Amino acid sequence: MIIGIVGQVSQVRDSQIPRPSDCGNGKTNLMVSMAYHQFRTRGRKVITNFHTKYPGSDNWNCTWSEFMTAQEIFEHFLDPEYDDALVCISELSGILHSAARSSKTIQWVDNNLNQRRKAGHDLIWDAQRWMSNDKILRDKTDYIYVPVKFHCVYDIRTQNWIPTTQCPKDICDEKHLILVWQDFPAPDPEDALTPIKILHAWEIGELYDTKERITDQTLHAPA
Ligand SMILES: [Zn+2]
Repeated sequence: MIIGIVGQVSQVRDSQIPRPSDCGNGKTNLMVSMAYHQFRTRGRKVITNFHTKYPGSDNWNCTWSEFMTAQEIFEHFLDPEYDDALVCISELSGILHSAARSSKTIQWVDNNLNQRRKAGHDLIWDAQRWMSNDKILRDKTDYIYVPVKFHCVYDIRTQNWIPTTQCPKDICDEKHLILVWQDFPAPDPEDALTPIKILHAWEIGELYDTKERITDQTLHAPA
């Protein structure tokens, strides 16, 4: 299954989801929460193109995912040892954008994605914006989620964190909840406004480097 996480709702339908801010809307936070859950509950191998760690630890070498650059991931996409691995690629749209300079590379990526999907292997990708090249992604993606970052307060009566206002900032010291909406397949109209998930961003932020910028944006097809 291929799952996409985007910082922008799709153009194809008139969405009622709140518009995410342009930066830091919780995409990686959502990806990490899904991947860590699979690791913890199933002991599943996880591959990421960003660095992760255990909560409360600062040891980036002993962690719950295997780090690979996007190039390495695409080269090893179909290796049998990664059959059951959950592959997570952050900023895939930017990576595709750079790959688009070579049609051979785009074809290689497209082919890899197709084969991985056909084999029933799992991939989660995230992207800030949709771009023209992303059609090759869009057509293969089974679910698309849109996370939006909110400030919150603790409600003593229900013992729950409650979202208040949407956070407009990339770097912000306040506590955040990430509310997640499903963008595709379009939910039933009566469910469209209900988030499918609410994440405690501060807990998941313990599991990866929230300040890391994905810089491995140079893909090239093997000669
Ligand atoms: Zn904030």
